Amino acid sequence: MKTLGQILKLSYEYISKKSSSHSRHEVDELIAHCLGKKRLDLYLNFDKPLNEVELDLIRKNLTRLAANEPLQYIEGTVQFYGCTIKVDKRVLIPRPETELLVDHIVKTIGPDSDKTLWDICTGSGCIGIALKKAIPGLKVTLSDISKDALDLARENAALNGVEVTLVQGDLLEPFKGQKSDYIVCNPPYISEAEYSSLEPHVRDYEPKLALVGGKTGLECYDRLIPAISPGTSVWLEIGALQGAHFPGAKIIQDLSHQDRFVEFIKR
Ligand code: GLN
Repeated sequence: MKTLGQILKLSYEYISKKSSSHSRHEVDELIAHCLGKKRLDLYLNFDKPLNEVELDLIRKNLTRLAANEPLQYIEGTVQFYGCTIKVDKRVLIPRPETELLVDHIVKTIGPDSDKTLWDICTGSGCIGIALKKAIPGLKVTLSDISKDALDLARENAALNGVEVTLVQGDLLEPFKGQKSDYIVCNPPYISEAEYSSLEPHVRDYEPKLALVGGKTGLECYDRLIPAISPGTSVWLEIGALQGAHFPGAKIIQDLSHQDRFVEFIKR
C-alpha cells in the first residue's frame, strides 16, 4: 500500500512528464481536494496509507489535470467574494480581478441600497450573486445569452441563498422598455486573433462564447452601450489594452496595475 508522501512524489513526476504548465501547488491542491483535506494538511499526513477508492479518484483527476483541464472545473467550485460558485464547461471561471470589481461596486453603492442592478453576461452568476449577498436590498437580475449558463447561475443563486431574477437573451434584449439604476457587465472581450494564442487550459476548456467578443473584441461594448438608458450607472470589465475605447469613462486598474474596469454614467 502506498503512502500519501509516495503518491505526491509519483504525481509530481507524472504531471511534469505530461504537461509543463502545472505546478506542484496545483497537484497538491488537487490531491487535497480528492482526500477532502486542506492543502496544508497534506504535509502532516505523509505517512498515511491511501486506499483504492482514494487512489482511483486521484488517478482520474490527475489525468484530467494532465490534459490541461482547469483545476476549478475538476474541483467543481470556486470561492468568489465570500460565495461558493459552481463552475463547469458551461461557464467562464470567475477571475480574482472580477472580485475587485464587485468590491468596488459594493463600496460605491453601499450596503443599504434598494435600487435595481442588472448583471449582463452573468455566466456562472458570480457578480450578481455576490452583489446581492453583500447588498441584500438590491433588486438583482442576471442575464445571459446561453441557457446552459443561466441554468448554472440559477443553481448558484440557490446555493448561496439569494433571490434574483434570471432572464435569457442577448445583452439588453430581454429588458426591452425597462430601465435599471445600475448595470454591470463582464462581456466576452477577446479578439478572434487573441483567441488562438490563449493558454490551452483556457482555449480548450472555457466556452468560446464567453471569451471572444468578435473580430476586434470590442463588439459587445459597441452593441451594449448605445442601448443603455441615460442616467444608468455602468461598470464594465475590459481587456488591459481597451481603455482608450471608452472616452470620458473612469478607468480602474487591477492589482497588477492593468486597466481592467470602466465606470461611467450613461449620457
Ligand atoms: N459574469 C461572469 C464572470 O464575470 C461571466 C463573464 C463571461 O462569461 N464573459 O465571470
